Amino acid sequence: MPAQDQNTHCVNCSRTVEEVPLLMLVHRAGNAYICPQCLPILIHQPQELVSKLPGTEALQPHEH
Ligand SMILES: [Zn+2]
Repeated sequence: MPAQDQNTHCVNCSRTVEEVPLLMLVHRAGNAYICPQCLPILIHQPQELVSKLPGTEALQPHEH
Protein backbone atom coordinates (compact mmCIF):
# COMPACT_ATOMS: atom_id res chain seq x y z
CA MET A 1 0.00 0.00 0.00
CA PRO A 2 1.40 3.44 -0.90
CA ALA A 3 2.54 5.47 2.12
CA GLN A 4 0.23 8.37 1.31
CA ASP A 5 -2.82 6.21 1.93
CA GLN A 6 -2.18 6.48 5.66
CA ASN A 7 -3.16 10.14 5.52
CA THR A 8 -6.01 9.74 3.07
CA HIS A 9 -8.87 9.69 5.51
CA CYS A 10 -11.74 11.98 6.41
CA VAL A 11 -10.68 14.62 8.96
CA ASN A 12 -14.00 14.22 10.75
CA CYS A 13 -14.98 10.56 10.74
CA SER A 14 -11.57 9.07 9.84
CA ARG A 15 -12.98 6.77 7.20
CA THR A 16 -10.38 6.05 4.55
CA VAL A 17 -10.48 6.43 0.80
CA GLU A 18 -10.74 2.64 0.71
CA GLU A 19 -14.16 2.90 2.37
CA VAL A 20 -15.71 6.08 0.98
CA PRO A 21 -14.98 8.68 -1.71
CA LEU A 22 -13.08 11.64 -0.30
CA LEU A 23 -12.84 15.29 -1.29
CA MET A 24 -9.45 16.94 -1.02
CA LEU A 25 -9.12 20.14 0.99
CA VAL A 26 -6.07 22.36 0.70
CA HIS A 27 -5.22 24.22 3.87
CA ARG A 28 -2.28 26.28 5.11
CA ALA A 29 -0.48 23.28 6.56
CA GLY A 30 -0.97 21.01 3.55
CA ASN A 31 -3.80 18.84 2.35
CA ALA A 32 -6.64 17.12 4.13
CA TYR A 33 -9.61 15.06 3.03
CA ILE A 34 -13.26 15.00 3.95
CA CYS A 35 -16.00 12.61 2.92
CA PRO A 36 -19.29 13.78 1.36
CA GLN A 37 -21.18 12.90 4.53
CA CYS A 38 -19.02 15.18 6.64
CA LEU A 39 -18.91 18.03 4.13
CA PRO A 40 -22.17 19.53 5.49
CA ILE A 41 -20.51 19.74 8.89
CA LEU A 42 -17.72 21.80 7.39
CA ILE A 43 -20.29 24.08 5.76
CA HIS A 44 -22.82 24.40 8.57
CA GLN A 45 -20.78 23.76 11.72
CA PRO A 46 -17.17 24.60 10.82
CA GLN A 47 -16.37 25.24 14.48
CA GLU A 48 -16.64 21.49 15.05
CA LEU A 49 -13.60 20.95 12.86
CA VAL A 50 -11.40 23.74 14.22
CA SER A 51 -9.14 21.33 16.07
CA LYS A 52 -8.78 19.08 13.03
CA LEU A 53 -8.49 21.47 10.11
CA PRO A 54 -6.23 24.55 10.15
CA GLY A 55 -8.02 27.73 9.02
CA THR A 56 -11.48 26.47 9.87
CA GLU A 57 -11.71 29.01 12.68
CA ALA A 58 -11.99 31.77 10.04
CA LEU A 59 -15.09 30.22 8.47
CA GLN A 60 -18.54 31.50 9.28
CA PRO A 61 -21.36 28.97 9.61
CA HIS A 62 -23.61 29.04 6.56
CA GLU A 63 -27.04 30.17 7.73
CA HIS A 64 -30.21 28.91 6.08
ZN1 LIG B 1 -16.31 11.84 7.10
